[in-house]
Amino acid sequence: MKKIIIAIDGHSSCGKSTMAKELARQIGYMYIDSGAMYRAVTLFCLQKGFFTGDILDRKSLEKEIQNIRISFVKNSETGQFETFLNGENVEKAIRSMEVADKVSIVAAVDFVREAMVKQQQSMGLEKNIVMDGRDIGTVVFPDAELKVFITASPEIRAQRRWKELIDKGEQTTFDAVLSNLAKRDSIDSSRKDGPLRKAEDAVVLDNSHWTLEEQNQKLLELYRERC
Ligand code: C5P
Repeated sequence: MKKIIIAIDGHSSCGKSTMAKELARQIGYMYIDSGAMYRAVTLFCLQKGFFTGDILDRKSLEKEIQNIRISFVKNSETGQFETFLNGENVEKAIRSMEVADKVSIVAAVDFVREAMVKQQQSMGLEKNIVMDGRDIGTVVFPDAELKVFITASPEIRAQRRWKELIDKGEQTTFDAVLSNLAKRDSIDSSRKDGPLRKAEDAVVLDNSHWTLEEQNQKLLELYRERC
């Protein structure tokens, strides 16, 4: 079978990671969650005190950017890849609302995007990869053989995300999650570098009313058409 690159982009919290991870598992591909990389850089900024409200100290971050090492390590019990920041497992910490609130600000910084895109492109050299994010089909892998753009209504996305956070024990409200999604989508779509937009040759999937099983089937079908 032909080795390909699968790029999955879309709005915040529309289930991209769940779909991408499941597809990668079924076809034996590596899965990379590019959002986790921007979240890890954001956690680093919060830990170092680079934020004053929503204002980021870009100069301090620029001095440190080469010292930020992000890797994905397989958890032998769950079989899932977890995010490490400079050798520390930050998988849980990067999913907090505190990080979600600031991540789009960090992800809009040009030198952060440059560093992350370079790392992401090197991960795709061997192909056989599924990567999800915002600019994977447009900037990271413009020649990807399969590009999918996923979306769903804001209310449905917020409902799914809110439930996920509550199940993990985070104290938050539906309205806080809904407004965080709107804020992130707005910053992500309007930034200069790697804005969130559909690649011209991407297949659009609105999964508002789809079950996980239906989404998986559709992705598998698209993958088989390209191999
Ligand atoms: O995918 P996830 O929601 O975890 O991504 C978190 C944030 O990281 C997004 O809201 C966006 O600001 C940023 N991101 C990005 N480019 C990517 C992936 C994520 O700018 N390829």
